[in-house]
Amino acid sequence: MPSVYIKTFGCQMNDYDSGKMRAQLAADGFTAAEEPGDADLVIVNTCSIREKPEQKLHSFLGTVLPQKKVRPVTVAIAGCVAQMAGKELYRKYPKVDLVFGPDAVHRIREMVEESKVRRVLDVDFFAEDTYPFPTDVDPDSSSVAGFVTIQKGCDNKCTFCIVPSTRGAEVSRPADEVVDEVRRLVDRGVTEITLIGQNVNSYGLKIISQGPGASLQPTFSELLRRVHEVPGLEVLRYTTSHPRDMGDDVVACYRELPKLADHLHLPVQSGSDRVLRRMKRYYTRAHYLDVVARLRAARPSLVLTTDVIVGFPGESDADFDETMTLLETVRFEGSFSFVYSPRPGTPALRLLDEAIPIGVANERLQRFQAVQRRIQLEAHRTLVGATLSVLADGPAAHDEGVVCGRTSGFKTVNFPGSEADRGRWVSVRVGAAYANTLRGERVG
Ligand code: SF4
Repeated sequence: MPSVYIKTFGCQMNDYDSGKMRAQLAADGFTAAEEPGDADLVIVNTCSIREKPEQKLHSFLGTVLPQKKVRPVTVAIAGCVAQMAGKELYRKYPKVDLVFGPDAVHRIREMVEESKVRRVLDVDFFAEDTYPFPTDVDPDSSSVAGFVTIQKGCDNKCTFCIVPSTRGAEVSRPADEVVDEVRRLVDRGVTEITLIGQNVNSYGLKIISQGPGASLQPTFSELLRRVHEVPGLEVLRYTTSHPRDMGDDVVACYRELPKLADHLHLPVQSGSDRVLRRMKRYYTRAHYLDVVARLRAARPSLVLTTDVIVGFPGESDADFDETMTLLETVRFEGSFSFVYSPRPGTPALRLLDEAIPIGVANERLQRFQAVQRRIQLEAHRTLVGATLSVLADGPAAHDEGVVCGRTSGFKTVNFPGSEADRGRWVSVRVGAAYANTLRGERVG
């Protein structure tokens, strides 16, 4: 039996694409290899949002490509870096056999066959209304949590972001296909579903991929309601949201849909209106705070997390202070925060004559992250003594006899248990709080 090893860098979208490739290759008899050194086919699925994942690609290939001297192995570069760099990668890595972008994921089986006779390059975008969303379910996923894509690409043009050029125009997936995939995952024992897309709030409003039910496309809030009805589903999440597009219909779902998780990731990027304008985010700080207020009125227990870019070109001390006060005002309970990383071909490159010195940007990032950690810890300490309902995801990686799980509010909780707990809801009394996790004892 041939075997495949897939190394994934980047976001949930990339994880999902890797799962789809595993599923399609399994239909051709491929099994999963534990290590790249054991595989007949090695795929590295890349990310180009920041510079670091690109560097990881280069070091990963540095360990895989030399193996071609001693054994037959097919090596593929997939994902956003492949989309961006295209045949340039062949110049850099002449021993690579396939290079393909996210739109070609559904063709993986054909491309692997083709690579037996020639090198394969596929970085074309599909005509939007014919984009085929791969429907197979990842055979290797043993998690009780699953992801279902509802959209691909993005029509926004945030000036720092490379996604519109690597994943193309925004296309919504037919609702019937989405609901069907949720059902199939739930039938396999998945109880928590995350609907994913680059800008889920505009689902159904743009181009719709052809398929059954495409002409009767619901809006995002209507899709949430349909998925919520799937019997056996216990927790429904979604990511990523754009604050500009968070309408009252979605806010109402937090009042009315009990399975909708107690957590929302709502990227703000900056607390300064001047920086938000330069990022072309099309909302203001006041609008963001209004969305937060409406969400909390609908669901007082809602936990909010966010994304922040520090040191965007031209960000003054005063602009950065506005980000800090926003953090204190909203009290996000987690964030992905990074120093701005210039990406090829993005509009923000035109602002680089106002680049923030890296030392200043790093110092701002450290200040932001220190306050973020303090807020997380304070929030977690309020939970000590409380009994939480935790969905056990399985044994903790480095802690024998301990199980790791998550609350609806996306808190990671460790507690005594075993593999048998996987997929069960367990009541846990919190005994200790740390900045990133909670620890407790089972009760009942
Ligand atoms: S909404 Fe903005 S940041 Fe998000 S994927 Fe689209 S362009 Fe990028």
